Amino acid sequence: MMRFDVLTLFPDMLEAVLGGSIIGRARAAGLIELNFIDIRDYTKNKHRKVDDTPYSGGGGMLMSPEPVYQAYMSIAEGLDYKPYTIYMSPQGKVFDQSEAISLSKLRHIVLLCGHYEGIDQRVLDEIVDAEISIGDFVLTGGEIPAMAVIDTVSRLIPGVLANDGSFQNESHFQALLEHPQYTKPREWHGMEVPEVLLSGNHAAIDKWKHEESLLTTLRKRPDMLKDAWITEEDAAFIEQHRRAEDDKAER
Ligand code: SAM
Repeated sequence: MMRFDVLTLFPDMLEAVLGGSIIGRARAAGLIELNFIDIRDYTKNKHRKVDDTPYSGGGGMLMSPEPVYQAYMSIAEGLDYKPYTIYMSPQGKVFDQSEAISLSKLRHIVLLCGHYEGIDQRVLDEIVDAEISIGDFVLTGGEIPAMAVIDTVSRLIPGVLANDGSFQNESHFQALLEHPQYTKPREWHGMEVPEVLLSGNHAAIDKWKHEESLLTTLRKRPDMLKDAWITEEDAAFIEQHRRAEDDKAER
């Protein structure tokens, strides 16, 4: 069982997305626990105000430290360990599959979502263990990034996917992209499913999948090949195709 607690001003947004489908079923089956904690419930003023103007000026509003801290303490109090606490932030390390694999080995993660201009630095210094970004762009809040992280990490937890091994073939698993996939019908708009997939020859199918995976990565994300786990034979295969594609481009 893996537990996620999300500190947010918009718990309904997370419930709407993470309540259904595969993640919803994993929650119902007790494989993951998801709690959405409304930071506004931890304000002491009667208007439930969570933000204030920044000392640095420049306009906009900043989330105050105390309600964030109290919301965090509602989780941390009573635990005999510190839950790994992540601030979703455009300044963080950019999230990727290998980070997701590392996080999937933890038992309890707290995700803190900012809004407006962000959060007072002092509470971040006090409770946050890591900052994670979902890419070099700025969103209005940390909720969509937190949902992306929870979804990605949850599907790596044993039992969450119907076919547990299925993520091992997927894009980014071995720093390679996945091969193209086909379902019925066998012919569609004049295009046939590749012959080898109909052959029933598992060794040939596995070889095709691996080579197509190399080719897809070469064509779409050649930058990934430097980190990919590939054999000398793979490297020779890639080189041969790289040359063929360069020749084609020159013609
Ligand atoms: N003023 C902040 C800065 O320049 O670093 C940006 C604040 S942003 C408008 C509001 C909140 O959205 C942030 O506190 C963060 O939680 C979230 N956020 C925005 N972009 C993000 C990204 N790329 N990855 C993760 N979280 C992000």
